[in-house]
Amino acid sequence: MSGSGRKRSRRAGAPSPDRRGHRVAVMLPYPFPGPFDYRVPDALEPRPGDIVLVPLNRRHEIGVVWDEPDGDPVPESRLKPIEAILDAPAMGAPMRRFVDWVAAYTLSPPGEVMAMALRINALRPDAQPAGWRRAEPLPELRLTEPRRRVLAALAAAEPRGGAELMRQAGVGTAVVRGLADAGAIVPAALSAAPPYPAPDPAHPGPELTAEQQGAAKALRRAVAARQFLVTLLDGVTGSGKTEVYFEAIAECLAQGRQALVLLPEIALSAQWLERFARRFGVAPAVWHSELGSRVRRTAWRAVAGGSARVVVGARSALFLPFPDLGLVVVDEEHETAFKQEDGVVYHARDMAVVRARLSAAPAVLVSATPSLETVANVDAGRYRRITLTRRHGGARLPEVAAIDLRKTPPERGRFLAPPLLTAIRESFARGEQAMLFLNRRGYAPLTLCRHCGHRMQCQNCTAWLVEHRLRGQLQCHHCGHAEPIPPACPICGAEHSLVPVGPGVERITEEAAIEFPEARRLVMASDTMPGPAAAAEAARAIGAREVDLIIGTQIVAKGWHFPHLTVVGVVDADLGLAGGDLRAAERTVQLLHQVGGRAGRAEAPGKVLLQTFGPEHPVMQALVAGDLAAFMQREADSRRPGNWPPFGRLAALIVSAETAAAADAAARDLGRAAPHGAGIAVLGPAPAPLAILRGRHRRRLLLKTRRDIAVQPLLRAWLAEVEVPRSVRVDVDVDPVSFL
Ligand SMILES: [Zn+2]
Ligand SMILES: [Zn+2]
Repeated sequence: MSGSGRKRSRRAGAPSPDRRGHRVAVMLPYPFPGPFDYRVPDALEPRPGDIVLVPLNRRHEIGVVWDEPDGDPVPESRLKPIEAILDAPAMGAPMRRFVDWVAAYTLSPPGEVMAMALRINALRPDAQPAGWRRAEPLPELRLTEPRRRVLAALAAAEPRGGAELMRQAGVGTAVVRGLADAGAIVPAALSAAPPYPAPDPAHPGPELTAEQQGAAKALRRAVAARQFLVTLLDGVTGSGKTEVYFEAIAECLAQGRQALVLLPEIALSAQWLERFARRFGVAPAVWHSELGSRVRRTAWRAVAGGSARVVVGARSALFLPFPDLGLVVVDEEHETAFKQEDGVVYHARDMAVVRARLSAAPAVLVSATPSLETVANVDAGRYRRITLTRRHGGARLPEVAAIDLRKTPPERGRFLAPPLLTAIRESFARGEQAMLFLNRRGYAPLTLCRHCGHRMQCQNCTAWLVEHRLRGQLQCHHCGHAEPIPPACPICGAEHSLVPVGPGVERITEEAAIEFPEARRLVMASDTMPGPAAAAEAARAIGAREVDLIIGTQIVAKGWHFPHLTVVGVVDADLGLAGGDLRAAERTVQLLHQVGGRAGRAEAPGKVLLQTFGPEHPVMQALVAGDLAAFMQREADSRRPGNWPPFGRLAALIVSAETAAAADAAARDLGRAAPHGAGIAVLGPAPAPLAILRGRHRRRLLLKTRRDIAVQPLLRAWLAEVEVPRSVRVDVDVDPVSFL
């Protein structure tokens, strides 16, 4: 970074007093190894956390005044000056500590972590003009088709933002500018996004049972104490955990502080938002990646200014600038969706606990199927546990049974076994709803030439292409590559020889249409239900009994409340066990238990049927017996001896390169330099299961240590020792969840 401030090495200790006020460290939102020093002009008095404008390589950048500079003797005359302190809410000390902590833990550049917290767009003044509206009609205006579309898009009285307008009308800037020059459209202020009305803690909510009240009281006490404390709120599906932690939010509001709730799939939160509004009278602020930039900006500012009292969001909401965070809730804490796999790789559940600690606030982790990590923390006395044992409103837990596919197989070429078909038919006869669950999108996971045996594979990845028949495509679920289904085998040229192998939800839907032609079907998968609005509409239709049969992927497992659903059929209960990674069994139990938990949530009892080739497998046994605690105990016992998480620590290095030789060479060098010692083991290098991804060859190394040995210092020393060529990437994944 030529002459633009000086990279600052991290060193403890305060600067000498005479330097204070002359220079400051400024963190910039880029992957530099640390903050840069800048000179402070006499007119300015920046304080830590202030948002400032500084020069960098002849550009102006927004940064945050970080902690005290270390007083390294670079003459001040060589430092560039801060240009301005922006009129924006400062980044508080807890947030700055959080950024430092996440960066150190994940081995990410702190500027990259801070970028997530800064949301540069939220700070920039609104672009001019803000939007457009129609002027008085001009009779002499030459109306081309694109111009007509723009004017049509502006037909409603409400002005529209430029980007939105261009998208809607399918035109470029030239068309809009042409219309503006002709005077047909004029700049107009966009109405401010709606502010966030304060949720009312005293708003009358639903009646709580005695058990719920006891749990709510304990959580309220923790919030009132204004201290860091982690509670696992654990309870059977349908026990009303949400209503219980709403009481903790109410206490937080009464204290005048802000609350953050993380959900694994915020896009699917329609029912959650409804419950929140029922309890508090208004909706909370929502934060997720699908928000438009204007809403994002409003939300960010409302959080920073303290007017957004409760935020419900996806994992990135952790980096919102709460000035007074009083409670952090992680709902469905066992969900792997909390792991961010791109950019800064972090686990939002674990970072939420850190965020709460740095804000001296309690954290509540919520799940009917807690992760082994969290249970181990309870057992070790680090977290406390509150358990709800009864379903709300007297509903009973569903009865779970396995269907042995070896004994009662489906008809040839079909996937639904006779006992499952019978159960579904019976539920329809009673006027109830049924659900088929298969965690696989598309029509078939594999397409095979029955003439030569060729399997259709992705051109960029080590992965089979998945047939999506409705779209007439073969798709790669790893890189997004898609191609039309070819009329002939690309290898042997045989026509009409490609056959689907195995089922996806599309194929199950087809089979269900044959078996239950009368039933009204609804498919719930991330590609058929792409946003919050579609999810909300699905929930409404199911609640209004406009649907008889729901066919879905894992998104049906998450938090839904369908009171008329009484039969859940799991099409392939063995599916998740096939991968065989560390958490395969744990995850399968959690997922299938959650799916089953959708059944029988009102008066009518529910039934869950698991189609499996291995009813004797401990996972199936645990689900049928409903004894998850015993299963988790067994899981723990199997992981403890090898120091596997949560009884040891893991970090993965993923080496990738454009050629296999380059990836191998770098992986081998890393392997040779691997750390060693008591309680330290390195596995690999080995080809990743996804050996080629997006055209890059991938190798993995796995560092495993005893729990009392931190992986970060080992990783830092290790990576410093090996010089990899520029063309090779080494990604670090601390506490890996995916092993692909
Ligand atoms: Zn062929
Ligand atoms: Zn691919």
